[in-house]
Amino acid sequence: MIMPASDLVNLSGLLDDAKCFALVRQLRWPDGARCPGCGRDAVIRDGCDDTQPHRQRYRCKACAGRFDDLTGTALAGRHQPLRVWVLCLYFMGLNLSNRQIALELGLNPSDVQATTEQLHQGLVAMAPDMALAGEVEIDEVYVVAGHKGQPAAVAKRGGSGVGAGWKARRDAARRRRTNRPSSA
Ligand SMILES: [Zn+2]
Repeated sequence: MIMPASDLVNLSGLLDDAKCFALVRQLRWPDGARCPGCGRDAVIRDGCDDTQPHRQRYRCKACAGRFDDLTGTALAGRHQPLRVWVLCLYFMGLNLSNRQIALELGLNPSDVQATTEQLHQGLVAMAPDMALAGEVEIDEVYVVAGHKGQPAAVAKRGGSGVGAGWKARRDAARRRRTNRPSSA
């Protein structure tokens, strides 16, 4: 029997939290932070998260919205540290299955599936739209609750409903963006 590599090396423990947040910032904002509420770049730094010192908070001067590095991304509201999900992204790039990723990272396979479905749509599939970000967080709670409460019902749906819902919302967000008078 082959041991999971995680039994030998705790890879996520070797990653640097500051670099993981820097990576997310680079992926979502290659040209600098933008407000997920109004899409403008008139953004100032506003301290860091109380429990995650490398998670930068921001304030938008245009709409007074507040957000941070993970607001509106598929990685917001997760219980595990960001470095675990950075490794998940890396394993996705290697085409590991959700089951393999869960095994390597010591995660619940249904958590991994929910997250990878979102990440396949992109790190920030539905930005910029603050209202939508709120909707998404509610959805995450629902998905987790669904898996815990009624595993059979969730399995029957095959999880595809979750992905389809995301896609529909993303498309709706795109339409809204397209209809918005161009200010860029
Ligand atoms: Zn704004």
